[in-house]
Amino acid sequence: MLIETHAHLDYPEFVNDLDDVLRRAKDAGVTRIITIGTSVESSRHAIDLAEKHPAVFAAIGVHPTFVEEAQDDVITPLRELAKNPRVVAIGETGLDYHRLPSEQVAKEEQVQVMSALRTETDEEIEAQIRDGAYKSKQASLFQQQLDLAVELGLNVVIHQRDAWEETLKIIGLYTGNLRGVFHCFGGSLEQANEVLGLGHLVSFTGIVTFKNGGAVRKVAAQIPLWKFMVETDCPYLAPVPFRGKRSEPAHTRIVAETIAAAREIPLEEVAEATTETADKFFQFNRI
Ligand SMILES: [Zn+2]
Ligand SMILES: [Zn+2]
Repeated sequence: MLIETHAHLDYPEFVNDLDDVLRRAKDAGVTRIITIGTSVESSRHAIDLAEKHPAVFAAIGVHPTFVEEAQDDVITPLRELAKNPRVVAIGETGLDYHRLPSEQVAKEEQVQVMSALRTETDEEIEAQIRDGAYKSKQASLFQQQLDLAVELGLNVVIHQRDAWEETLKIIGLYTGNLRGVFHCFGGSLEQANEVLGLGHLVSFTGIVTFKNGGAVRKVAAQIPLWKFMVETDCPYLAPVPFRGKRSEPAHTRIVAETIAAAREIPLEEVAEATTETADKFFQFNRI
C-alpha cells in the first residue's frame, strides 16, 4: 500500500485515459493519490477529480511560476474551495527562481554577453526590474497561502527551486505554526536535516532512479524512515525505465522500491512508513 503524494491529474496529459491511469495505480498498490493544484482554476479542477474518484484527494494552491497570471486576490477563492472535505492541504506554493525574466533576455542577447567590454542594455536593466517584481509577487503569494494554511489548520505542499535561502527565510516565520513538505526534494543531506529539524518533511520523486540522481538517492537512504513521503510529480519526472515519457501515479511504486533498495530494507517497510507519514500529514476524511 502506497500513497502518491504529488500528482497533477488535472493536466491535459491525463485527459484521455485517466481511468486507465487510476486502474494502473491501484494495481501497483497505490491506494491514494493527491492531485495538486497550481492555480485557482487548476485547484478547482483538482477538487472535481477528487469528488469523482474515491482514491483521489486534492491540494489547492497557486504555483510560484503561475503568479504573474494569477488574479489579485487568490485567497478568497482558495478559502472558499478549502471548505470542500476532499481538500487535504494547501499547495503547491513556494518560490521558483529557475527561469527569471532576465535570463530570457540574456539568452536572446547571448552574442553581446560574450563580449567583454559592454554596458547593460536598457532591455537588461528592465529585465532586472522585472525579476525583482516577479520575485516579490512569488514571496507575497507564498506568504498569503501560508497564512491561509495557518488559518485553516492545514499543512502545506512547498515547491522550491533555485531559491533555497529565500524559501527558508519565509518558512522560518511560521515555525511551530504549520508543517510543510518540501516536495521533489533535490537538496543535500544538510538541507534535508535543516527542514526536518524545523518539523517539516521532504518527499522524493523519480529523480531517485536517475543515473545522475545518486546524491538525492543517498539523502533518501540516510534520513529517518518516518520523515519522508513518496511522489511522482507526474506527468513530469518519470522514473527509469520510463524516463522521458509521461509519468503517472503507478510509478510511485518504483520510487519506493528504489529508496527501499538504497536503504537495504524491504519495499513493505518503506510503503508502511511513508503511508503512515502521509496519513498523519494530510487531512484525509476531514469534515
Ligand atoms: Zn513543484
Ligand atoms: Zn508539482
